[in-house]
Amino acid sequence: MLEDWGGGISDEATLMIYLDANATTPMHPEVLEAMMPYLTEWFHNPSSPTLSGRRVRKAINRAREQVAGLLGAEPEQITFTGCGTESNNLALRAMVSELGGERVRMVTSQIEHPAILRPCEFLAGKGHDLTVCPVDESGYLDLHRFGQMLAGGSPGMASVMWANNETGAIQEIAKLVEMSQEAGWIFHTDAIQAAGKLPFSVKEIPVDFLSISGHKFYGPKGVGALYSRTGEISEALIMGGGQEGGARSGTEHVAGIVGMGKAAEMAGAALARGEHLRGAERRDTFVARLREEIGGVRLYSSAGDCLWNVVHFSVAGCHSAALRILLDDAGLVCSAGSACMTGSGKGSHVLEAMGIGKEEAAGSLRFSLSILNTAAELEAAVGLVKVAVAEVREGE
Ligand code: PLP
Repeated sequence: MLEDWGGGISDEATLMIYLDANATTPMHPEVLEAMMPYLTEWFHNPSSPTLSGRRVRKAINRAREQVAGLLGAEPEQITFTGCGTESNNLALRAMVSELGGERVRMVTSQIEHPAILRPCEFLAGKGHDLTVCPVDESGYLDLHRFGQMLAGGSPGMASVMWANNETGAIQEIAKLVEMSQEAGWIFHTDAIQAAGKLPFSVKEIPVDFLSISGHKFYGPKGVGALYSRTGEISEALIMGGGQEGGARSGTEHVAGIVGMGKAAEMAGAALARGEHLRGAERRDTFVARLREEIGGVRLYSSAGDCLWNVVHFSVAGCHSAALRILLDDAGLVCSAGSACMTGSGKGSHVLEAMGIGKEEAAGSLRFSLSILNTAAELEAAVGLVKVAVAEVREGE
């Protein structure tokens, strides 16, 4: 994969170093190539019984196999959606319906993405019973509290993310599934940051529902998928012509689905080659160099089991907004906490849940690496951070 790309994703013209892969990844050229025929000559409606329609349908089915392959699933367990957010919303809707739709008990975690927290709050507003499980100071779910929340009463539904977008913390999903199964609860995981970065199989970790999104693993934006263990999705969000087995009506975004399939296949191959392990080595060197060059670095991303690509840190005495502007001007793209929260004026709810004070959290920067970042780019990034930190500290 690296070789195909020519190594690195620095843009020669602008000298950009892209360290924001958790916000979105660039599309792999082979993904675009796979999509192109479905944006041009094979534009036909996959529901059409014609020869051309059937050919387009075949491309969707192939993509379903490729996505299933990345997850260790079967094609009939995969439903394509319009994005990761939709997959999460659909999973929650389907679980509520499966549980009878009245005063359903729901458990989620404090550190979920808004694509889980907001629909959970919405459901709570409709009379369902929501409990939010806390995390420890490193961002890992409190398993004891989770167990207590499932205990007693009628079985409900739990949704805990596989890996956190801001800190990279990988939750003990196997354990959470086991606990949920013992209590008779349905378990969903938002694996949008985990898929393609972490090898796993739903055959070994039998979650009931799992969400993924194409643009987080070098596929296109505007396409996601929901895995369902039974293959059933008992209630749709979008009703109409009955596409995707009735779970998601609307003429399929064929090119997006084909692109996501190709990206899933390539991500699986990259994991099998151990690209993520080499990435982790580059990340470790990067973190060591940051600490060597800059005083007062505090890391939020590396205690315990963590996604290989996340370096989330603060620098004592430096506000992230000031640092990020300087870094952006210097051609380094990263994010202050979560990209999705940027512009909202709110601090990171994830760092807050970890007990990090508002002032300290306001100084945090998240670098999220991709498998394309070269060692040379990362060393250049250390230099840029060092200059930016010196400038901010001088100005204060
Ligand atoms: N869940 C997590 C953990 C994410 O990181 C994101 C995107 O950042 C989403 C959900 C939303 O995915 P999408 O942008 O495909 O709607």
